[in-house]
Amino acid sequence: LEAELGQLDCIPLEMVEANENEVDVEDAVESQARQEDGQELDVEPIVVEAMERTEGLFNEFAERVLSRDLLLDPSNAAKHEVLCGLVSRASRAVYATLQAPHMWSGEHGSTVMRILAETRIVITWMDLQDPAIYAQYQNYGRGKAKLMRRHLETLIETSGEAVPIDVRELAERLKKKAGGDLGEAFQEVSVDTTFSGLTMRKMAEEAGLMDVYRYLYQPTSGVTHGEWWAIEDYAMQRCVNPLHMVHHIPSFQPEFPIEPMYSRLLVAQLDGIMRQVLAILAPADTK
Ligand SMILES: [Zn+2]
Repeated sequence: LEAELGQLDCIPLEMVEANENEVDVEDAVESQARQEDGQELDVEPIVVEAMERTEGLFNEFAERVLSRDLLLDPSNAAKHEVLCGLVSRASRAVYATLQAPHMWSGEHGSTVMRILAETRIVITWMDLQDPAIYAQYQNYGRGKAKLMRRHLETLIETSGEAVPIDVRELAERLKKKAGGDLGEAFQEVSVDTTFSGLTMRKMAEEAGLMDVYRYLYQPTSGVTHGEWWAIEDYAMQRCVNPLHMVHHIPSFQPEFPIEPMYSRLLVAQLDGIMRQVLAILAPADTK
């Protein structure tokens, strides 16, 4: 009976492959050492180079956008703020990911790649609109903050003493930032899912960036939201017990395959975004 039950257990493919690789222990040890060696030799300089390049790009960008030569439209400070803010956010995301090479893969690097794709679509789309769009972007976000604070207040009211002190502090901080009760009274709250009232797909379409949407935004969103294909690809493995037919079981391999090219791709995307923003903010300057 025990043998029969044993046959019912799942047989993870990763285990079978690991056993196959153990055939020649000496070879295995050697190849592992070579790999570890190779990683130390390869990844470290790539990290350093990519981080230096990002720092350089950011400093150059900051110098340009903060220079007084740059013609600023005083009636549209929101444009400068929003575009610089989006670049700042993208730069920080890239910089953080560059410091963590185990995040350089389709599985764990999807968040930053999605930010970059979203940024490109949003800045390109906004540039095609009336300049008031930048204030609308900020207004939408402030409305969201108001909504968040309202939810927190409801939580505090209904839970009373049970609410942790940091939740109260957060509510207080949000209130101050919004200019207190008076400041917030005039703040509109939008129930649209994006600042433009359009889906990311629609904005990409109008901006002529369907390629960015299809090849970067959509797949990375799939990973972020845990669409089944992404879970199956990255977090599952096959069970090879023939009695179980074909089914998937969790992957237990604690490995993070690194794609060294990923860092260069991130930096190149960021570079493109910065150039585009500079061209929008200082068209005469960029040629
Ligand atoms: Zn199974």
